[in-house]
Amino acid sequence: MSQTNQINADLHCHSRISDGVLEPAVLAQRARDNGVQMWSLTDHDELSGLAEAGSAARALGMTFIPGVEVSATWAKQTVHVVGLNIDPDHPVLNQGLNGIRAGRIERAREMAQRLEALGIENSYEGALRYAGNPGLLSRTHFARYLVEQGACKTMQDVFNRYLGDGKPGYVRVHWSSLADAVSWIIQAGGRAVLAHPGRYLYTPVQFGALFDEFKQLGGEGIEVVTGSHSPDQYREYAGIAKRYGFLASRGSDFHAPAESRIDLGSMPPLAVDLKPVWHDWV
Ligand code: AMP
Ligand code: MN
Ligand code: MN
Ligand code: MN
Repeated sequence: MSQTNQINADLHCHSRISDGVLEPAVLAQRARDNGVQMWSLTDHDELSGLAEAGSAARALGMTFIPGVEVSATWAKQTVHVVGLNIDPDHPVLNQGLNGIRAGRIERAREMAQRLEALGIENSYEGALRYAGNPGLLSRTHFARYLVEQGACKTMQDVFNRYLGDGKPGYVRVHWSSLADAVSWIIQAGGRAVLAHPGRYLYTPVQFGALFDEFKQLGGEGIEVVTGSHSPDQYREYAGIAKRYGFLASRGSDFHAPAESRIDLGSMPPLAVDLKPVWHDWV
């Protein structure tokens, strides 16, 4: 049991450097306004927002935890591994992320071709207009363009009809291996946390294998309370954290005011019988 569970820690969100819409310093202010005490920016496969986020957060009196959300492939599906308290200048982590970002450009071109065949034109250029960082084109940017064009009503609609895994506009990618993602994070001095496990479409047997393997590779935590989980899933993954001896993390996964279901810092606290991933960072 830990006293630190009650801290308002939000250890997962995105800025314009990946697929969020706010600048890092604006996010820091919004986190502070929402009562966040310990905050991490975890852009997808990118570290270049961390300097701005860190100085803004510290000026506002928050504890800043440098973070990243690494895209990995495990059993033919994408899993996300959040690295917390990493050294943003670590060469191995930077090289690994460079490799992942390079793969995104080609994939975006292919995605645009598929969408074109489905009658949606100019989506590469359209997505690029939404990208704060042209080196990090994401399905989220395509989704914003499709909503703008009236092809879909909502972002969710875009993923359901076009861009979700296995849908007609989806392009399969091989990101990093889970082993590499965890290893880069550990080498950069960080703690590896499996992001939003409730979002993956694995069988129960595969989930067991994923948790075992992640633990064996040195993964220390899983997200329990996240904007991507339902309250039932908060309970389910609290149980998994205890069963496997994982530290528990909490994060909004906030991307944009008009899109995200949960705002920065506004999730329920972690259950008192969980050990928070931040227990020794206070
Ligand atoms: P990418 O890394 O380019 O494959 O894009 C993945 C991003 O798309 C995630 O980080 C989410 O922000 C967003 N995303 C994935 N699935 C959905 C969904 N069903 N609804 C809304 N956004 C989603
Ligand atoms: Mn995202
Ligand atoms: Mn994610
Ligand atoms: Mn995320």
